[in-house]
Amino acid sequence: MHELAAAHELVEAACDYARRAGAKRVSRLHCRIGSLRALDERLLSEAFEIARRGTICERAELRIEKPGMTCLCPSCRERFEIREWQWECPRCGTEGVDPMGGDELELVSIEAEVPDEHSSPAECVCQE
Ligand SMILES: [Zn+2]
Repeated sequence: MHELAAAHELVEAACDYARRAGAKRVSRLHCRIGSLRALDERLLSEAFEIARRGTICERAELRIEKPGMTCLCPSCRERFEIREWQWECPRCGTEGVDPMGGDELELVSIEAEVPDEHSSPAECVCQE
């Protein structure tokens, strides 16, 4: 059940970031998950509901973004996106190119409530 591990990782990162930003509650998590992670979105949402319990992310909403996978062709240096697991370079037809990306599991940003200063949630970009 690696969805639960992934959910814990995201919640932990969000809590950590929120604490550093002085936020009292996280209202939304934006994350990016590459297709190589093979995570089931529905299972991840369920796992997220378990992982967020008792944390400042308890009422947070999870937004998942799935970036495309890009490859760099070793022969012609063409950069292309992998669609439907087609690994051939669209320009020269070379097969078996190494994908770049696709294994992302990262928190992009969070929306958090910072007390006093603002009544509306603040958007924090998570750049480590
Ligand atoms: Zn090529």
